Amino acid sequence: MKSWKTRSGIKILRMLSGRSNVFLLTNGSENILIDTSPANKWNKLEKKIRDNKIDRIDYLILTHSHFDHAGNAGKIKNKFGCPIILHYAEDYYLQTGDICTPKGTNAFSRFIVNNFALKFSNRLKCDPCLSDILIDKKLDLKIFGFDAYIMHTPGHSPGSLSIIVDDEIAIVGDTMFGFFPGGVFPPYANNISQLINSWGLLLETNSRIFLPSHGGSKTRSQLLRSYNTRRTNLSG
Ligand SMILES: [Zn+2]
Ligand SMILES: [Zn+2]
Repeated sequence: MKSWKTRSGIKILRMLSGRSNVFLLTNGSENILIDTSPANKWNKLEKKIRDNKIDRIDYLILTHSHFDHAGNAGKIKNKFGCPIILHYAEDYYLQTGDICTPKGTNAFSRFIVNNFALKFSNRLKCDPCLSDILIDKKLDLKIFGFDAYIMHTPGHSPGSLSIIVDDEIAIVGDTMFGFFPGGVFPPYANNISQLINSWGLLLETNSRIFLPSHGGSKTRSQLLRSYNTRRTNLSG
């Protein structure tokens, strides 16, 4: 299992990888889970938690409410009794299980949204569940024992969040995609200019490694390259 360690000793474990990554932050005693993968991955996620002898999850952060991130939120909350942290703009979707359908950002993803996502939106629903801590702009995780904070990075969805760990590693949800070698632009986004703006906010941190929810890690220079290209396109 891939893992990263920051200078203050916070460990980031990639519990699930492939189509949807799930990360666990640990300071040695407290554990924060970030995202939960789609509902059909529950057995795999539960086994990973068990195999790694993780007997407590103190907080669950959802980067946003899409089914491939919040699919097992209710099950995690039931099993560990942990509060769910989410942006307030996503709370309605978590409570109802509805999907905040994003727009496609290229011809292929637009085709998928128009032909499948809207028609089969029932299949993209999650089990409804209740959040406990709602975020607006920022939440410092020092109170939870982590040199880290959560920041609002909208664009992919209205309430997308990123977690900046030790001002060194950023866990960015779908604000960046890790699948494509040529860039970090996600195939789905509600608001592209907001998304590019959020990349600018991520670049204002000192993060050098970026961990998207889909695909592998990205470097600061990869993000900067995409940011410069897309920003020019937007203003042109
Ligand atoms: Zn998403
Ligand atoms: Zn996603």
